[in-house]
Amino acid sequence: MSEDVNPFESLQEQVDDAAAYLDIGEDTLERLKNPERVLETNLSVEMDDDSLGVFRAFRSQFNGDRGPYKGGIRYHPGVSRDEVKALSGWMVYKCAVVDIPYGGGKGGIVIDPHEYSESELERITRAFAKELRPLIGVDRDIPAPDVNTGQREMNWIKDTYETLENTTEPGVVTGKAIESGGSRGRVEATGRSTMLTAREAFDLLGKNMAGASVAVQGYGNAGSVAAKLLQDELGANVVAVSDSSGAIHDRAGLDAHEVKEHKNETGSVTGFGSDSAQELTNEELLTLDVDLLVPAALENAIDADLAADVKADVIVEAANGPLTPDADDVLVDRDVYVFPDILANAGGVTVSYFEWVQNRQRFYWTEEKVNDELERHIVEAFEGLVDAYEEHDLPNFRTAAYVVAIERVLSAYEEAGSWP
Ligand code: NAD
Repeated sequence: MSEDVNPFESLQEQVDDAAAYLDIGEDTLERLKNPERVLETNLSVEMDDDSLGVFRAFRSQFNGDRGPYKGGIRYHPGVSRDEVKALSGWMVYKCAVVDIPYGGGKGGIVIDPHEYSESELERITRAFAKELRPLIGVDRDIPAPDVNTGQREMNWIKDTYETLENTTEPGVVTGKAIESGGSRGRVEATGRSTMLTAREAFDLLGKNMAGASVAVQGYGNAGSVAAKLLQDELGANVVAVSDSSGAIHDRAGLDAHEVKEHKNETGSVTGFGSDSAQELTNEELLTLDVDLLVPAALENAIDADLAADVKADVIVEAANGPLTPDADDVLVDRDVYVFPDILANAGGVTVSYFEWVQNRQRFYWTEEKVNDELERHIVEAFEGLVDAYEEHDLPNFRTAAYVVAIERVLSAYEEAGSWP
């Protein structure tokens, strides 16, 4: 893992790589590479022992040409201004790839949430929601969960916003619990789009997914659901998984559901009890000889050095930004096919969009309808990538995704005209 690669510089490089195939002026390109605004604030919150906790927090609104800003809120000690800016930019291009009417945003608090009680986390989240109130809104900016946040935090943000605004507006955040206006299928959506992208990729490359060996780095929401669906719906053989405590490997196959139950009970995937399972380091997992590797943890998991040792045939990115731009170049040279985050994990924001549509109509869909609509968006987006890849003779599918997305963002910008 490469700590020193700045994810914001990676995003800017990815946009430059795609812009080289398009006719874009320098000034317009700057606009596509920088956020419109970033809120940086300190949250001051009373702790359980009566001391004052102070937490740095950010919200970046990157681009609103295609609709309201949209993107998650991350709680992690590694959150930084540049990380939030990068993640908000990736949201812009992700929403454009799957053609949903949003711009991109992202937020975060510099915090290890495991060190705080539930009531402290509630006060911290409500303090952040209070700071965000002038910026967010159902037609302005719509937060959602990301690493270490989930339904509970979204429910707190919604309640704080609704209380301050004296209204009911469930569509102000997505990723809520069903009873608070959430959508069926939202929890599984990111893993589902990862599975669908892998299915389409194997089909395109003429590879068989049934029995294919799969390694998954990160066993949280995105990784564990992807593993379960690859196993249950496509018959893949999940041979290795990891989390921040380490990795486990079994050539005979791990049961993705049992591993998740073990993680829920013990807090980690390590120590999983099948007789033939061995423990590995995280780096060993990333260089296993498998048909499919799914990075589903954090940014910069694979740098150029590690990419030289990757033995997987195909990588489908469930995490945001798991490969550095230099790793991308190495993998192109080594004929490893990479299917990018802004398509593969777009299921989360796509079903967030369905949740927002349902909230606005106050009319709720069945899980089957959610999954069918999600499949349609991902398959159509995949086909759009393949068309761009062939039409422009592009080096990889990431550049293809950015070409499609940038063209859509630019035409919305140009059609709006400029004011003042
Ligand atoms: P999560 O908190 O549920 O899970 C993260 C997992 O990664 C945990 O199992 C953690 O132990 C593991 N991890 C952390 N560092 C690791 C390391 N160095 N090696 C191996 N494992 C490590 O988070 P999530 O929601 O699953 O998000 C994971 C990634 O997917 C992030 O990049 C996130 O931005 C992206 N993503 C998530 C969603 C969503 O809907 N949840 C949507 C789009 C993108």
